Amino acid sequence: MKVNTKYNTKESLLELYNKPLLELVFEAATVHREFHNPRELQMSSLLSIKTGGCPEDCGYCPQAARYHTDVEAHKLMSVESVLEQAKNAKANGSSRLCMGAAWREVRDNKDFDSVVEMVQGVNDLDMEVCCTLGMLNEDQAKRLKNAGLFAYNHNLDSSKEFYKDVISTREYENRLDTIENARKAGISVCSGGIIGMGEAIEDRVGLLISYMEMENPPESIPINALVAVEGTPLEDQKPIEQWEMIRMVATTRVAFPESVVRLSAGRTKMSMEAQALCFMGGASSIFAGDKLLTTPNPDFNADKEMFDILGLIPKESFQDGEKPVTHPDEKIIARKKKEAQRAEELAMAKAKPKNGDFEPRKVSVTN
Ligand code: SF4
Repeated sequence: MKVNTKYNTKESLLELYNKPLLELVFEAATVHREFHNPRELQMSSLLSIKTGGCPEDCGYCPQAARYHTDVEAHKLMSVESVLEQAKNAKANGSSRLCMGAAWREVRDNKDFDSVVEMVQGVNDLDMEVCCTLGMLNEDQAKRLKNAGLFAYNHNLDSSKEFYKDVISTREYENRLDTIENARKAGISVCSGGIIGMGEAIEDRVGLLISYMEMENPPESIPINALVAVEGTPLEDQKPIEQWEMIRMVATTRVAFPESVVRLSAGRTKMSMEAQALCFMGGASSIFAGDKLLTTPNPDFNADKEMFDILGLIPKESFQDGEKPVTHPDEKIIARKKKEAQRAEELAMAKAKPKNGDFEPRKVSVTN
């Protein structure tokens, strides 16, 4: 059951969201136990492979170039250092790596070739690879799929109505198109939202309605609490109550019984008890590591302690879908062949005497 038909209208979802909290958590826990192992929690790592300097204007994001925040822009990381970080994350218990680049959209250039190589390398480490790179066309989605991409993340953030209060540089429809392109390429979809941006409860439920309207709702739904960063338009937004996060997680769990609900940004403001209620109410993944792209997150040791106290076990990779097969990338092969040819030509040109070069005449000297 991908969508819970009992709650497929705005009214019924609102009723669910507003239930007495413990009843809502109980209902969510019941659904969760039917479709998932309630003791398993996936540890995922989120790595910013290209930071800052983004031309978009997402009101919550410190990576937008137009806002004056502490985030320093960095160019794309090298394939080697990403693979190094992936190995570290795996050694610390992560079974999924999400790589984020602060781009408006993917461009067909050398940087994208590098991302394709990163995907190949991380998939070879037996980790689920997820990317969040901005807008994506069908061909680019196919290349990522071919490289071994497990999931593509593209959040709708909020309801269609509230979205334009937060972002003006691209439309809700553009986001839906990107999700559709990933879907067409056979990539699993990760898409969720942020609460605490000043939206109404109707907008939180409206986000879930947008997913219900899809032919296939996302396999993975991250729920984030806004981390208000100084310098962004949402810097003064009051932090949400922990109960709101629990309600949103539990409502999402009930509405999409098969999807993985991810308790994402905002955990540093939550007590372990509140997080426990989220896990009971259907969250089965957290992001591990002390940074979520550019904002703080609990460190590995604090999470390990939480696992012990709550009796949780880390979820292995590929429990929710087969490991993708990595195929060679024709474009990278062609580019590397061209580069090798060019290097050879240059070397030959260097070795060959040029016009006007003086070649000394051989003389034999006799006494
Ligand atoms: S959320 Fe993504 S697209 Fe929006 S400003 Fe930040 S990096 Fe750019």
